[in-house]
Amino acid sequence: MSAPEPRDAVPLPPADGPPATHRVVIVGGGFAGLFAARALRRGDVAVTVVDRSQHHLFQPLLYQVATGILSEGQIAAPLREVLKRHRNVDCVLADVVDVDPAARVVVALRPGGERLELPYDDLVVAAGVRQSYFGHDEFARWAPGMKTLADALAIRRRVFGAFELADTATDPEERRRRLTFAVVGAGPTGVELAGQIRELATHTLRTEFRRIRPEDARVLLFDGGPAPLASFGPALSARAARTLQELGVELHTRSIVTEVDEHGLQVRDHAGRTSRVEAGTVLWAAGVEAPPVAAALAAATGAQHDHAGRIRVEPDLTIPGHPEIAVVGDLMSRDDLPGVAEVAMQSGLYAGRRIRHRLAGTRVRPFRYHDLGAAAYLSRGNAVVSAGPVKLAGLPGWLIWLLIHIAFLTGYRNRVGALLTWAVAFAREARRERAFTTHQIETRRDVYDPPAAATPGPPAADRPRESPAGAGPDR
Ligand SMILES: Cc1cc2nc3c(=O)[nH]c(=O)nc-3n(C[C@H](O)[C@H](O)[C@H](O)COP(=O)(O)OP(=O)(O)OC[C@H]3O[C@@H](n4cnc5c(N)ncnc54)[C@H](O)[C@@H]3O)c2cc1C
Repeated sequence: MSAPEPRDAVPLPPADGPPATHRVVIVGGGFAGLFAARALRRGDVAVTVVDRSQHHLFQPLLYQVATGILSEGQIAAPLREVLKRHRNVDCVLADVVDVDPAARVVVALRPGGERLELPYDDLVVAAGVRQSYFGHDEFARWAPGMKTLADALAIRRRVFGAFELADTATDPEERRRRLTFAVVGAGPTGVELAGQIRELATHTLRTEFRRIRPEDARVLLFDGGPAPLASFGPALSARAARTLQELGVELHTRSIVTEVDEHGLQVRDHAGRTSRVEAGTVLWAAGVEAPPVAAALAAATGAQHDHAGRIRVEPDLTIPGHPEIAVVGDLMSRDDLPGVAEVAMQSGLYAGRRIRHRLAGTRVRPFRYHDLGAAAYLSRGNAVVSAGPVKLAGLPGWLIWLLIHIAFLTGYRNRVGALLTWAVAFAREARRERAFTTHQIETRRDVYDPPAAATPGPPAADRPRESPAGAGPDR
């Protein structure tokens, strides 16, 4: 990314309150950014959290929004509301595009495109990662990933829209294709999505249609590796495979997706055979990469990055030669730490505390991660949990899964709301969050895009859903 032209950017208008003594800019209000801001709430610092979306998102439950259990409001909380009691913290809605370490300014675009300058004394970059298509960005048009609220709502439209379109299809071939769902990637997200689509087809929608049998829906789950949920260890992975089979998910391991288009995908199996699958809905849950702001930061600071573009950091999570710039959460590369919420929370907290210690002139120990384990939802009342030597599955796993998610969901109202919704969904197999309009089945447009009338383009249905692999605004 090119260095910003100073005259292009305008300074952010001053906020209310006494002038700042020490300015901290935090890029990203996800788990890492939020925990960094919270750690600084009592410091003598002025904190600006800049995010391209106005909410803090609980990504682990995106699949429940996509499959109609939870509403978007139940897993997202406005950043301003979350941080309103922290009088020294300000929130800015803008897309960070560059950093000038010499001038110590962050350059961001307001919705609509105007450039803003945000000066800092300390910078915490917590911009997360985005979906990766492993060099095949063209797949993004047909196979949405799931990283943002907009992604989850787009998937919801496609999944529930597929049943509607199957119901009115006159051609049996089309009906079969509409009722075929392919999920790429058998990590936690892919497993959760595939299982939920089968559950909604066989339970929630089973009695609602008069021309199709929703339970006939095929769900195929593809992964290049040998087993689903491989990171959970062989026992829980085998348990996940069994549960998927019971749900009716067709699991294809050691299978590489080589092509995705409007009507389905092409797969190469372990023996090198290539086959074609006609599928009306293809969903991508197969990999992540750093967003463009990481490349801009690396270019500006000389920081190294790993194969996915994540920034390599020192033991104190800063960039070599730049003690004033920390990179935390999914975007940091350090000791092969996984991209999970717990790493993001602990690293964000550490970065905030480190700034306070530095200002107080006290010593800071290197960052140490305390692994609290991982959980994945398989089906109603059935989840797997792996925490050190403890491996749980079935109902005990599900109860722990429930406790973890209630504990970490942001905001009291969201916790109560999710708990009540789960109680109803569990008891009555109901999914109440599945409203969409037919205009939204295939297309999406950014609210800040200029009106289409100015330059006639292709019809909305022919336009790409988003820039390849989310290269542009992804919410
Ligand atoms: C579908 C899904 C399921 C998951 N399930 C689990 C799970 O079960 N357990 C678990 O531990 N982890 C899970 N994770 C991973 C976990 O959610 C992440 O590790 C965590 O959210 C990382 O936090 P972060 O703050 O680093 O990044 P994020 O939460 O991604 O936040 C990054 C923030 O930066 C903002 N941003 C990005 N670029 C810019 C820019 N240029 N300018 C301004 N703002 C920007 C984004 O809008 C976002 O708010 C899941 C993730 C996904 C996507």
